[in-house]
Amino acid sequence: MGSITTTLLDLPTELQLYIIQFLDYPSSVALLQTNRRFRTIVPIEPPTTGEQKLSYLLAMELWPKYTHLFSCNICLKLRARNAFADKQLRARRGKGHIESGRRFCLDCGCCHRMYQPGHFLMVGGQEEVLCAICRERCRYGRYCTYCRMCEPLFSPDELEGRCARCRHKDLVKDLGKPPGEFQIEDMLMAMKMSEFEDINGFIGSPEWFEEDIAHGNF
Ligand SMILES: [Zn+2]
Ligand SMILES: [Zn+2]
Ligand SMILES: [Zn+2]
Repeated sequence: MGSITTTLLDLPTELQLYIIQFLDYPSSVALLQTNRRFRTIVPIEPPTTGEQKLSYLLAMELWPKYTHLFSCNICLKLRARNAFADKQLRARRGKGHIESGRRFCLDCGCCHRMYQPGHFLMVGGQEEVLCAICRERCRYGRYCTYCRMCEPLFSPDELEGRCARCRHKDLVKDLGKPPGEFQIEDMLMAMKMSEFEDINGFIGSPEWFEEDIAHGNF
């Protein structure tokens, strides 16, 4: 005796509609997107309110094709893991857990001042901190925990590792060097190369230079 597989598509419309009414909102929207016919028979609109969008995202992030993405309840987007502080992806804020709908991304956290300068966060297993002056998230170089600002890469030698602003030494934290990027030796070599290019006329004409400066590209 051969088996007969019946899918939702094989059923009469009344039965389809009967089954569809038991679907939650995200599943209905997903179904709507799989098949043109369903779009005509399923009485549902795509998500418009914030609440609908979030409930849709919270369901979507559980689907196998979105394992690498996580929802943010503020910008209402699915974003990659590195757009969030590690804490937002774990425990109660983990996918499918009780507070997953309260997860927010780093950009939204900074924008809404939930992350303040001086707060150290773990992102992808690495420490980072927001700078009060340039408002960047600092992952490398030195950071003064008193001034809550990043330090210029080359602070003068006579400061002996002190903060150029407050002169504290003990409160300066070294966040480490960027991986595989930018060494002082490379910088010195680049400076030598530019001198060489200047002498040998490889640098663009003065007009080019002026125009660039006029456009703020310097
Ligand atoms: Zn966000
Ligand atoms: Zn800064
Ligand atoms: Zn300082």
